[in-house]
Amino acid sequence: MTTSYDDNAPIALVTGANRGLGLAVARRLGEAGATVLIGGRDAASAEDAAASLRETGLKAWPVTLDVTVDADAAAAADRIGDEYGRLDVLVNNAGILPEATAPDLERPLDLARFRATFETNLFGVVAVTRAMLPLLRRSGAGRIVNVSTTMGSLTDQLDPRSPYFGLVLPAYQGSKAALNALTIGLSKSLADTSILVNSVCPGWVQTDLGGPDNRAAAPTPAEKAARIVADMALLGADGASGTFVDAAGPVAW
Ligand code: NAP
Repeated sequence: MTTSYDDNAPIALVTGANRGLGLAVARRLGEAGATVLIGGRDAASAEDAAASLRETGLKAWPVTLDVTVDADAAAAADRIGDEYGRLDVLVNNAGILPEATAPDLERPLDLARFRATFETNLFGVVAVTRAMLPLLRRSGAGRIVNVSTTMGSLTDQLDPRSPYFGLVLPAYQGSKAALNALTIGLSKSLADTSILVNSVCPGWVQTDLGGPDNRAAAPTPAEKAARIVADMALLGADGASGTFVDAAGPVAW
C-alpha cells in the first residue's frame, strides 16, 4: 500500500480481486476514482493484479487476504486503518463453487464440500465484514456489497421456468441464500448508520468459477458484469439497503 492518495476519493476493498469478476470490479471502481485494495490470498497474485491496474493509471494496491483466515482479516484491517484511517467500500466477492466439477446428484451431501463452501462464501464474508466494520463506520458513506447469485434465490430454485431449475448445487446455493440472509440482517443492524448493505447477482459471468466449460458457456464478460456490482458499491446517500438486485432490477429472495 502507499501513503499517496486523494483524501476525498473512496477507499475500496474487493476480496478475491486477483482475477475473475473481482478484478473487473476493482478496475471499474478504480476508473470511478477509488483507491482500490486488491484482496488476494496469494500475495504475488494480488500484487500482479494491482500492478496491472496501476499500469493503466489506476490507484490499486495489494492486500494479502484469505477470507477463511481470521488473522488475515484482522491484519488487513490494521493495515488499512493505519494507511487510510477508514474504508468506504467493501465488496465481498471471493467465492467458490466446488460442486461445479461434480454436482450434488453425483456426490450427495458431501459434508466436507458443504463446509468448505460455507467457510469461504459465508463465514469468510462474516469474518472480513466484522474486521472492516470499525473502518466502514469511520466512512461518511460506507457501502458493503455481497456478491451473491440468483442461484441463491429460494424463489428461483423453486421456479420450473428458471434456467437454473435443473441445477442441484445445494452447498453453493445454500451458502448464497445464507449470504442473502446476512445482507438482510446486517442492513437492519446498521439501519441507524450511513452504511448501506446489499446483495448483487452479477449474472452468469465468463470466469473460471463454474468449471472448465464456464467461460465458453457464460454469456456475460466480467467487465460488463462488474458494472452492477460497482454501481451498488458507489450508491449515493439515498441508495437502498437490504436489497438483492441484478443488472435488470430486484431479484426475488
Ligand atoms: P473465479 O474466477 O473462480 O474467482 C474467484 C475469486 O475468489 C478468485 O480471486 C479466488 O482467488 C478468490 N477466492 C477463493 N477463495 C478465496 C479465499 N479463501 N480467500 C480469498 N479469495 C478467495 O470466480 P468469479 O466468477 O470471479 O466469482 C466471484 C464471485 O462472483 C463469487 O462470489 C461467485 O459466487 C460470484 N458469482 C459468479 C458468477 C459467475 O457466473 N461466474 C455468477 C454469480 C455469482 P484464487 O485466485 O486465490 O483462487
